[in-house]
Parts: sequence; structure tokens; C-alpha cells
Amino acid sequence: MLKGLSAVVTGSTSGIGLGIANVLASKGANLVINGFGDAAAIEAERAGLEAKYGVRVVYSGADVSKPDDVKAMVDLCISSFGAIDILVNNAGIQHTQSVEDFPAERWNAIIAINLSGIFYAMQAALPHMKAKGFGRIINIGSVHGLIGSVHKVAYVAAKHGVVGMSKVVALETAGTGITCNTICPGWVHTPLVQKQIEAMAAQQGISVEDATEKLLLAKQPSQQFVTPEQIGELAAFLASDAAAQITGTAIPVDGGWTAQ
Ligand code: NAD
Repeated sequence: MLKGLSAVVTGSTSGIGLGIANVLASKGANLVINGFGDAAAIEAERAGLEAKYGVRVVYSGADVSKPDDVKAMVDLCISSFGAIDILVNNAGIQHTQSVEDFPAERWNAIIAINLSGIFYAMQAALPHMKAKGFGRIINIGSVHGLIGSVHKVAYVAAKHGVVGMSKVVALETAGTGITCNTICPGWVHTPLVQKQIEAMAAQQGISVEDATEKLLLAKQPSQQFVTPEQIGELAAFLASDAAAQITGTAIPVDGGWTAQ
């Protein structure tokens, strides 16, 4: 379905990004994977994707909060595959604390990675997409781009920003063959969420299993985690011809969280 297309997936060494990379590769896309982690594990992931799906995969160690790094990552996609057809902006971090106690350094890091990084990548990719008359920008927002939760001031601000910024790009590119949408996941069981579960267990003196159940109960009516592969399948659909008229949307994948 995506054979011959090339994609950059930021933050694809873990969690949701890794799931998206697997799904896009399974449908034939060549990939630039990105993110931090152990060099040998990243190389194993890169080579594994190539071997499993018969596509080409290169790695960029770009820090998405740095505009020059992000431009180099987009250029790597162009020099490796001749185009950047799909841009999935997924890299993100979290920090939870009340507004009064929230460290300015964490605020700045979350805004830099979760919001500005996406702006830099779209800015770098758009001229190439416009020249080709085709592009699919898929930003990974969150339910927290649509509603708030306590102790997530920077994250909620950044994710609301992603939803708004994506609408602007959708309007500026309407009719050009480029679309820009935001996927808004609810709870997905990744290292980012595992940290929150463990913090909850420690704080409340309960087991990790009980904290997991409580976390789901509090927000996600389905009582089930969304999987990275389910997010990946939606990203692949948004990259397909069938989704050519879907642009400027924010699509929740949240087991009913935002229906409440
Ligand atoms: P994760 O911690 O498992 O993975 C994050 C990835 O981003 C890793 O590959 C990491 O190396 C990379 N990364 C972090 N900082 C980076 C930087 N400066 N430059 C480049 N890469 C960087 O997290 P996840 O849960 O898979 O989250 C992925 C995205 O999904 C994030 O944007 C997150 O906000 C969003 N999200 C997650 C959930 C959830 O429940 N897990 C829900 C909604 C939205």
C-alpha cells in the first residue's frame, strides 16, 4: 500500500513510534527511524525492519528540539530515498507536577521537543512535499491536545499547540496533495506511561498491577490500552490515497476517553 514511499518517523526507537515504524515498513515504506537509546539496540531494530519487511531503513540521531538536527534528518531522507512522502512527528516526553511546582527547565524541554520539534520538521519537509505535489504529515498529539488533566501543564499546552499548528498547515497546504492531521491517543502502554504507573504505585503504596488498573479506570472507559500498532494502522491509513481529503483533523484513538 505504501510501496515506493519514504517516511520519517521521529521517536521510533521506543513505544508508539516503534509501532508506527513497523506498520509503515510492513506496508512497503522506506524509513528514517529516529530517537535515543543504546546504539546496538537501535542498529538491531534498523536491520531487523529491513530484514523483516524488505524495505530500506536508515537511522538519524537527530534531537528534534534542535532545528539543524531536524533539517539534517529530513535531508537524510531525501538523500537516501529521493523524497520525504510521509512525516510522522511522534517524539515526545512527559513530566508531571502541579503548576506551582513545575520546573521551568521541564516546561522548556517539553515545549521544545513536543511542540517546536514538530514545527521544525514540518518547515523542513514542506518545500520537498510541495515540489512533489504529495505529502502526508501525521502528528502524534494526545487526548491532552483536546482536554486537560491535572499535573500536565506543559504537556497539555504543547499538545493543544500541536492540534492548532496542524490545522494551520492543513489550511496552508489545502489542494496541494499534502495533508496534515493529528492522531490523539489515550493511554498506550509504553515506557512513557509505565513511568507514570510506577510513580502512582509508589505514591499511593499500591502494587504496579493495581496502579495500572486505577490509571485505566480513571480515564479510559474501554479499560484497555490502545496499542502502538493500532496507532500505526491509523497513520498508514492517513498516508493512503483513501485519506486524501482528510486534513486538519484531530482524531482520538482513546477507548472513549474524550467522549466523557
Ligand atoms: P516513549 O518514551 O516510549 O518513546 C518516546 C520516543 O521519543 C523515544 O524513541 C525517544 O528516544 C524519543 N525522543 C525523546 N526525546 C527526543 C528528542 N529530543 N529527539 C528525538 N527523539 C526523542 O513514549 P511514547 O509513549 O511512545 O510516546 C510517543 C508519543 O506519543 C509522544 O509524543 C507522546 O506524547 C504521545 N502519546 C503517548 C501516549 C501514551 O499513552 N503512551 C498517549 C498519548 C500521546
